[in-house]
Amino acid sequence: MSHVLIIGAGGVGSVVVHKCAQVTEVFSRITLASRTASKCEAIVRSVKERTGVQVAVETVDADNVAETVALIRRIKPDLVLNVALPYQDLPLMDACLATGVDYLDTANYEPPDVAKFEYKWQWAYRERFEKANIMALLGSGFDPGVTNVYCAWAQKHHFDEIHQLDIIDCNAGDHGQAFATNFNPEINIREITQRGRYWEHGEWVETDPLSWSMTYDFPEGIGPKKCYLMYHEELESLVHNLNGLKRARFWMTFSEQYLTHLRVLENVGMTRIDPVRYQGADIVPIQFLKAVLPEPASLGPLTKGRTCIGCVLTGVKNGKARQMYIYNICSHEEAYREVGSQAISYTTGVPAMIGAKMMLQGLWKRAGVWNMEEFDPDPFMADLNTYGLPWTVVEL
Ligand code: NDP
Repeated sequence: MSHVLIIGAGGVGSVVVHKCAQVTEVFSRITLASRTASKCEAIVRSVKERTGVQVAVETVDADNVAETVALIRRIKPDLVLNVALPYQDLPLMDACLATGVDYLDTANYEPPDVAKFEYKWQWAYRERFEKANIMALLGSGFDPGVTNVYCAWAQKHHFDEIHQLDIIDCNAGDHGQAFATNFNPEINIREITQRGRYWEHGEWVETDPLSWSMTYDFPEGIGPKKCYLMYHEELESLVHNLNGLKRARFWMTFSEQYLTHLRVLENVGMTRIDPVRYQGADIVPIQFLKAVLPEPASLGPLTKGRTCIGCVLTGVKNGKARQMYIYNICSHEEAYREVGSQAISYTTGVPAMIGAKMMLQGLWKRAGVWNMEEFDPDPFMADLNTYGLPWTVVEL
């Protein structure tokens, strides 16, 4: 019986609240807090209608540590589940340290003024979390998150050494909009416009943004799609935690239409993250762009099709070479029917709930700051099948 404080009432936050409300034997009390009360209230109404569970609402600016500390002291949660934005990771970790409460998130910290995401800022909290005897679980979404757990499961049961890892993220869905992003537009565009990076023979190799591509033939009728090499945060921890790794890469599918819009927006300066003076005010172009693009949460009823995210792993077991593909396919329409959200929010929110469940049930419990692959993957893999993200494994 535990009390979870969920921070961030966006697309992912909505799924997390709906999913926690389906598991009241673990999440016996749920509070949702964000800056905008009306967003929380809309989610709480939907949860009440679908599950009968009453969720409490609070407002908080998670950038303000003192405000979060006061909220935590007042409502006394057992866990803070951060599904606001990566900018809030460090202030929320500070608030958890000040109050002695466990922490979980789905995306690593990035400073607002530099589009650079790295674990170094959060890993720097390790000793302080250990001393305070509290735990932080980093990146409990799908990628990072489930992809890390797939790797840990493959390493535990199927490989002595994993030599090559390709994480492949395919969204074969369509929302019918000329241009929209499936999660927070600012974070999404910052990520995609960065230089690519993969790991080979012990070092990072950089590529120009979206300059490398391959066509991958996705299973279960999805078929061939063009995927682009990108840097993605789970590579940073996986290269430390997988045995014998020689190469690790991350790929994502994009449509020509998406890439054309993105190129134009970049060329005209609309993806800039530095302030521009306009009519006496400082405006950050990418923040203005976010304000005119559709909210990810609004894409739920519009999106059709499926996602397919998985890991292709090549290595050896008992001296024999093997290659394995572990993946999940998630339907946008089914996710919408169940919780009122599209599959990108769904595939992130479900693992966030499961990660919190692992911690609150004491199955994953260790003081310090941890990545997903550092825990026993088996109970998490079992819960993926139970709570809506079943996986398939094929020998290639
Ligand atoms: P949204 O933009 O839909 O939601 C983010 C919410 O955070 C907003 O609704 C906003 O609500 C709230 N928020 C922002 N700033 C603050 C603040 N200072 N204090 C309190 N609340 C705040 O984004 P998504 O739901 O799409 O994404 C949420 C997180 O999930 C992001 O960090 C994203 O990177 C991560 N993600 C991870 C994935 C994975 O697989 N690991 C995949 C997809 C997303 P308000 O208006 O009330 O401030």
